[in-house]
Amino acid sequence: MPEKITHFEIHDIRFPTSLTGDGTDAMHTDCDYSSAYISLYATGGLVGYGMTFTLGRGNEIVCQAIAEVAKRLIGREPETFFANMGAAWEFMCADPQLRWIGPEKGVIHIATAAVNNAVWDMFARVRKKPLWKLIADMTPEELVNATAFRYITDAITRQEALEMLKAKESGKKEREAKVIEIGYPAYITSAGWLAYTDDKVASLMKEAVVAGFNHFKMKVGADFASDLRRGKLIRSIIDDPQHLPASASTYISSADGTAKKGRDPNSPELRGKNAGPTGAVLMMDANQVWDVPEAIEYVKGLAEIKPWFIEEPTAPDDIIGHAAIRRALKDSGIGVATGEHAHNRMIFKQLLQADAIDVCQIDSCRLAGVSEILSVLLLAAKFNVPVCPHAGGVGLCEHAIHLSLIDYIVISGTMERNALEFANHLHEHFHYPCSINSNGRYNVPSSTAEGYSTQMHQASIAEYEWPNGSYWVGVAEQHKQI
Ligand SMILES: [Mg+2]
Repeated sequence: MPEKITHFEIHDIRFPTSLTGDGTDAMHTDCDYSSAYISLYATGGLVGYGMTFTLGRGNEIVCQAIAEVAKRLIGREPETFFANMGAAWEFMCADPQLRWIGPEKGVIHIATAAVNNAVWDMFARVRKKPLWKLIADMTPEELVNATAFRYITDAITRQEALEMLKAKESGKKEREAKVIEIGYPAYITSAGWLAYTDDKVASLMKEAVVAGFNHFKMKVGADFASDLRRGKLIRSIIDDPQHLPASASTYISSADGTAKKGRDPNSPELRGKNAGPTGAVLMMDANQVWDVPEAIEYVKGLAEIKPWFIEEPTAPDDIIGHAAIRRALKDSGIGVATGEHAHNRMIFKQLLQADAIDVCQIDSCRLAGVSEILSVLLLAAKFNVPVCPHAGGVGLCEHAIHLSLIDYIVISGTMERNALEFANHLHEHFHYPCSINSNGRYNVPSSTAEGYSTQMHQASIAEYEWPNGSYWVGVAEQHKQI
């Protein structure tokens, strides 16, 4: 008898990050990092865990939508899904009634992400491989069958994708071994949140340099003078060799032939990123705060702090606007990045077709799960744009390392120009938390039991489930006493 999906549980989990200013940017000033979380069960003891991410209030609306999407899976055979995850994805997105409240955007799409992520997690667990390995071991034909191609074949066809994957087949084993040995490049965001004081930013930046990071991101867009001051402060730390750890490498400067501490800013992986003398790279993130002309003027004003790119300079759906900003900033040597709010593969297709981005920032919980992510990874590789996934929040780093590994091992074949976002929050709530090695790179998930790495501890759910978890009950009690 084939196994069948029997039931699911949904949890609305919220962490009180608004109390510490974690996650603050120009548009999101008091976020409670939240997970709309599903456990999907099948006969034979099979289970898959999936989630999407929100900032607090509204998480219950996503949980309700997850239930609607997941109901259609009851009674279905997981192995039928696993045999063709692209078809499974189409099925999940094509509810004749639910698609009206999308289609493929908004609450219903991020709810579909949670469910699709849970099915992929179950698939990886059943095969006893971490998710990245499950996909890295697929044949090109299997991977193409697992990918969502609807509405993007004007930019990439199945046949083209197949040929791209076959061309990368021979180097897969070597790349897998290499990344397991050295880790995947990361950058850090959690040292530069907007609500942090200058002293806190300075001490966190120094810690990040010692931890081996050499790509750093700061939030901008609320106050120009403050951004310029904080940017100069950050550059004064990351560009100063005295802050580098004793173990830092050295390079021979092409300018004066002497040995310098740090990484060569003219090396292929740093060229074009406005790297400073120690090879440090600064990125800026505006979280959609500006209109197009304002974005151009504001960012040009910050050119002296030499960012690699400005992230989300304007509305995430404004493809032509992003292209205009990118053209206008070209002479300043500042690129444009976006994607964490790009709600489906068609937005990414158009951003790429319009030459609107230098860096593609997929989000594991906004695109509707792994099948749609695969389509964007293939698109980005075809357009030769590096993928630096959005992460942070809760659970996003745990997901994103799998996606960057798939991109490197199977699809693009390159990683040294890339950098995967890392924020040092809330990893302790997961059974298989992501981790960073001493060179500031992500370690490769290795457990045969971890699937897509987002199984949460039962104790964390019991504490932070809203509104009846022990933490939130305690907060309500305190308010009664005031
Ligand atoms: Mg961002």
